[in-house]
Formats: sequence, C-alpha cells, structure tokens
Amino acid sequence: MNYQELVDVYIRLDSTTKRLEKTEIIANFFKTIEDDSLYDICLLILGGVFPAWSDKELGIGDKLLIQAISKVVGISKISVEEEINAQGDIGIACEKLFSKKQQTTFFLKPLTVNFVFSSLQKLADISGNNSTNKKISIITELLSLASPSEAKYISRTIIEVLRIGVGEGIVRDAISQAFNVDKKITERSHMLTNDLGLVADVAKKEGENGLKKLTLTPGKPVKPMLAQLSSGIKESIKEMGKAICETKYDGIRLQIHRKNNEIAIFTRRLENITLAMPEIVKLIEECLPHFDFIVEGEVIATKNGKPISFQNILHRVKRKYNIEEAIENVPLKIFLFDVLFYKKPMIDEPLIERRNLLEDIVDLSNDDINLSKKIIGTCENIPEIESLFEESINENHEGIMIKDSKEPYIPGLRGKKMLKFKAEPETLDVVVVGGTRGLGKRGDFIGSYLVALKDENDELKTIAHVATGLDDETLEYLTSKMKEYEISQKDNKIFVKPKIILEIAYSEIVNSPEYEIGYSLRFPVVKSVRKDKGLDDIDTIERLKSMYKE
Ligand code: ATP
Repeated sequence: MNYQELVDVYIRLDSTTKRLEKTEIIANFFKTIEDDSLYDICLLILGGVFPAWSDKELGIGDKLLIQAISKVVGISKISVEEEINAQGDIGIACEKLFSKKQQTTFFLKPLTVNFVFSSLQKLADISGNNSTNKKISIITELLSLASPSEAKYISRTIIEVLRIGVGEGIVRDAISQAFNVDKKITERSHMLTNDLGLVADVAKKEGENGLKKLTLTPGKPVKPMLAQLSSGIKESIKEMGKAICETKYDGIRLQIHRKNNEIAIFTRRLENITLAMPEIVKLIEECLPHFDFIVEGEVIATKNGKPISFQNILHRVKRKYNIEEAIENVPLKIFLFDVLFYKKPMIDEPLIERRNLLEDIVDLSNDDINLSKKIIGTCENIPEIESLFEESINENHEGIMIKDSKEPYIPGLRGKKMLKFKAEPETLDVVVVGGTRGLGKRGDFIGSYLVALKDENDELKTIAHVATGLDDETLEYLTSKMKEYEISQKDNKIFVKPKIILEIAYSEIVNSPEYEIGYSLRFPVVKSVRKDKGLDDIDTIERLKSMYKE
C-alpha cells in the first residue's frame, strides 16, 4: 500500500475530535487493506513502529531531523528552525517547506507503507561509529521521496509525536468493528500480547477463534495491574470480604520473566533493565525453579539494611557502567508479590491461589529475596491490618496494599480489586508539555512548567503551570530535558514532546477556563520527577473529575 493512502487517513483523523468517528474511519480503512501491511499500519497509526512490549525507541532528536530536512529542502538549518518556531510544530513546518520546494525526486517512486515502516525500524538499530550519518542518510532518503503531506507525518513519526488523537482504545475498537470481533475478546488478546498489530492481523486472518488462542508469553512484558486509592481500610476489606493485605514497599516494580534459560527484568514501563541488575538475576536464578515463569515484585534500595527512598533505585536502573560499584553502594532487596505465569498462564487463577503458588516455589533462604509481608484481612481482624499499616509506615515503607483474594490478574487495569492505602495525600501524575523561562536568579532555567492530563481520546489537555517544589538540582535536570525534548520556542516560552512525568501535590481542584481541561489546581507543587513512569501512566480527566466531585 502507498504511504499516501495512510496519510490521507491521518488527515481525516486529524479533522475530527469525536472518538466514534475516529473509530469508524480506522475500521473502514482496515477493511480496505488487501496486502500484508495491516500490522505496520496499526503501529504507525499509534505513532510508532514497535509493539508496546518492545522497549525499542527511534531515539531521533529534532537536531538530527532538522539536519535531514535542511539537506532535502536545500535551505539552512537556521531557516528550518525558524519555520518550526513560526509554526510551533515540526510537521506543519515540514509540509510548508516541502510544498515550496520543487523537488525533482517527488513522486518518482511512491513511498510504500512497508518502506516507511522498515526504514524507521532500521533507525533504532543503528549505533556505534558513524551512526549519526547513517541515520541522517535513512531519513534523507525517506524525505526526499515524500510529498509535502507525507513529509509532515514522517517527521512527526520520527520525533514520536504524531498528534492525530488516536490511542490504543480507539484502534482496539476499530479492530473489533472492522473484523466483526467481540470487543471483550479484542481487549483480552491485546492485554495478553501487548501488540495491537498482532491482534489486528490475527483478527483479520483467523477471527475470534484465533484471538482466543493468543496468550501470555514469557519474554514479552505485559502492562502491570494497577491500584486505585482505598478510602479506608475497614470499608475496603468489608467490600472485598476477604482481602490479602500486604506492605506497600517504596521501590520500583519489576516484572521478571524466565524463558528457557534466560532471565529478563522489566520495569512498569516495560523497559528491559536486566543488565542493570545482575544481582537480582542471580537471586532469581538461585531461588526460583528452572521453569518458564513471570513473577512480579517490588525492588527497594537499602542502607544498613533499612529501606531508603525509591529515587536511589532509579539511579541503579539508569546505570550502564560501574555496576559492580553500584551493587555495593546501593544494595537491593526484592519483595515478590504475584505470579502471572508458571509453566502455563496463571492470571485467571484467583489471587489467593497465585500467592499460594508463589509461596511454594520461592526459596527464601537468601535475605535479599522475600515475599511481600501479607496478612489475610476480614471484618474480624481490622485492628491487625491497621497495625500492619502502622508498622509499614514506621519501617519507612509507603503504606499497605489491599487486594481482593478472589480476583484474577488483569494486565493494565487500574480497578477496584487492588487498592493502596497510603499515609500521604493524593497526588496527580501529569506530563510536561511546555515551560516558561525563569526571571532573575532562575533566568538560566525553565522556571515554570505547563502540565497536562489525558482526555478520553488520549489527547493531552493542559491543567496548570507548576513552579514550586523544585530545588536547583531538579531545575537543572528538568531544564536540560526540556532542551532535549524541545519542539518549538516562542519568546520566553518553550514547547516540548510529552516525555517528562511529574507527580504534583496541590491544595484544591478548581473550575477554570484558563486551561484546556476546564479545571485547574490551586497551589500545585512538584513532589517528584517520575522517571519510572511514561505517558501511558499519567492521570486522566476522568480521574480528575471524580476527585473534584469528592
Ligand atoms: P504510587 O505512585 O502510589 O506508587 P503507582 O501509580 O506507582 O502508585 P499504583 O498502581 O497506584 O502505582 O500502586 C501500586 C504500586 O505499588 C505498584 O505498581 C508497585 O510498584 C507498588 N507496590 C509496592 N508494594 C506492593 C505490593 N505488595 N503489591 C503490589 N504493589 C506494590
């Protein structure tokens, strides 16, 4: 299929904000695809070229893209930058520049979806000597064959900001609609494979029966099941009847896979961090049976045997060199709490069965590997659970988890069957989309950050500017990241790719026409930079509205 056909669909998707219309456009398009490009198209519509389980990224900064554009269009890099700043969007700027330029190669050979897809995939694998030139030459080749509208969307895909207001939910519904498959079945196969391209392909070729055969595969991470906030220990336990109450550790969540003889460790963002944690790999190798499995747990950093803040682990995760030294300076302990696969998928079993299995299979003779501390909570022993909470806080942990003992594991779901009860007030996870340069002492830094939440279509809507809670070190870090992710600048304002996630505390949610979302936050304060979270993890308007009502 020619890439221009996909671009025409992008343009139609861009012209409506209505979810149902977007779904209809994509479903109708999917039905017309006759060759083998459905997989590629699915991922391209989602703005990428790798399935969600893969941690590969294109990793192309705008500087490199600008260099390629300037080569193809035949103007200076500064002129390209000026156009981008004037338009406030690299895609629109690209389209304008390409339509002014009479390119001899235009339309000589139409770009195909497969060619665009495989060229972009190649970019992620280039490293080492001369990699910048190799990347520029791939991008230049693509752009030199592109029409102005194709150039608009290729450049946006390259910097990973497609901006057509299509998230996984819409594509999932479109697959169901196009291939006449029950939505629940599409949803389940997506949750188990984390690969919508594959789901679309199987739905098209084998229908519901094929989708039902898709399952969890060790080696491919799935989105973790997440927790809602408990309104109170007693109420939550009463509602569940029988709950597994556990210490909530303040570390990072790990999903640990064993496939054949290989152990792989993934974060909650599904990044593969196996190489950063050799001591955890060793522990798992020694203390769990040598069958295929997927287990989950929280890893915490310790000092003199006591837990310390989770920020310390983030340093461990990002580290690529001197790992031996880090192992000594920041010793880790892991607390396992769930098993998703053990010789076969286990997620449909009730939590209590999964926990029993975990207790059977883990050898706890090494102090660095533990199971999360657990007490079965019923209406009869509420004080015991309250003591677990107090003990958890006294030991520097975060609070407790209250989990319905009868429930299956549902990847990606943030539901009522798994709750957290913490000592700290509720916060919001937001993404930075822009910023304003500071005044006076803060003149070198971006002092104020424009932050956004997700709406029902996964589009970002601004909600506040936040400028407090930032020490000099954090300001310096954020300012350098803002430069790295810059899309455009105007006066003292900068707009960036939605990559930086902040956890924000505030005194009140108020109605406000000032921001796109229609609400704002009074006295917002940055509590932390959540390097462990991505765009998928930010809060939604729906959650904000329910918090506002409360
Ligand atoms: P928070 O910001 O409160 O950590 P979160 O958004 O990171 O929350 P939630 O799903 O809201 O994630 O809270 C559950 C998180 O708590 C898990 O993702 C996991 O990292 C952590 N955790 C710590 N101890 C446990 C435990 N015993 N069982 C499950 N999760 C635990």
